[in-house]
Amino acid sequence: MRHVDISGLTAPAAWVAKTERTLNVVRAAMAGNTERAFTAHWTEDAVRDQLLELVGGKCWYCETLILRADVNVDHFRPKSEVLDVRGHQGYWWLAYEVSNYRIACKHCNSGGARFNGVPEGRAKGSQFPLLAGTRARHPRDDLNLEQPLLLDPARRGDPNLLGFDTSGYARRSDVPYSQAEANIGVCRAEETIRILALNDSRIIAQRSHLMREVTVLARLLDAPGAQQLIDEKVGPQAQWSSAAATALALQRACDQQIDVSTQPATVPAGTSAIDQARSYVDLRDLLRYLDPDDLEAGITLTGQHNKKVHHAVLDTDGWISIGKRPWRTPTTAARAATGSSKIDGWEFWRLTIDGLEQTLANFRAKHFPPAAPA
Ligand SMILES: [Zn+2]
Repeated sequence: MRHVDISGLTAPAAWVAKTERTLNVVRAAMAGNTERAFTAHWTEDAVRDQLLELVGGKCWYCETLILRADVNVDHFRPKSEVLDVRGHQGYWWLAYEVSNYRIACKHCNSGGARFNGVPEGRAKGSQFPLLAGTRARHPRDDLNLEQPLLLDPARRGDPNLLGFDTSGYARRSDVPYSQAEANIGVCRAEETIRILALNDSRIIAQRSHLMREVTVLARLLDAPGAQQLIDEKVGPQAQWSSAAATALALQRACDQQIDVSTQPATVPAGTSAIDQARSYVDLRDLLRYLDPDDLEAGITLTGQHNKKVHHAVLDTDGWISIGKRPWRTPTTAARAATGSSKIDGWEFWRLTIDGLEQTLANFRAKHFPPAAPA
């Protein structure tokens, strides 16, 4: 995900006048309790062309180029309903607000992604979960009081929360968890990956191929044209360029490590800081309290939802795998397993330690203060 600067977007006066008329019809329908109809003015060239120009016709969420397919304009705050929020009539007053528009491919917008042949991700659609804050329900409500859960390409800082591993998987980056994430044990990046299926099988393969290409090019910088090719691949408008930029940074870090390998280490051995916020979101700080042999073999986690038992495996690096799909956080793993967006994975998953079955929440409380840090 790259940051998309939408501050220069303008809505042409004729378009604004037209959409105001449409919005008045919507208002009248709501007042008369009849069905609302939103004319799709957001697909008109006057607006959509501006959006497409910002990052060169790729999906703002997954960065896949949209060629020879319909370009969806996603409403970041959904216009007609909000999934899982009872009684919410949608952010209808933002239906024709250009700052609410995001370019999205079909899979990010309405689903269809698959992982190893299995459908994955419910897609953005009318989902707009909040991490914290107060949800706006009326035009007079302050949108700044909402803290959206999904990463927003148009919000500076959000794209930096998404990183990639060398296999091409989208992952949480090294940016520390926020206090709001720690308070409810949820990782915004991982929830975005789950909901938008940013690790669909085909995209992983393509991303990993691109990352290998960039790595090789970075090693051959003296070759004619190598630098130009790298520049093209990491440019903001290039397909999956944030993954390409990650591959380039990894290769540079690798080169520097070779250069400084004779220097003394600057971090004293044996110190490992505990990140309080991280301890409330993912399991890595708790691994030291588990038997290394058990972890090596994989510790089974079980959880039950709607009378169905789900299994996952916790490994030495703290990944929780369901089938062959690894997740970093208990909550996203639980939500991916059950399809429910409301489950708290710390309460959901159970494991057995020294013959005692307990929830991850119990296990965590034993080793960390019982309340989330203030
Ligand atoms: Zn997409």
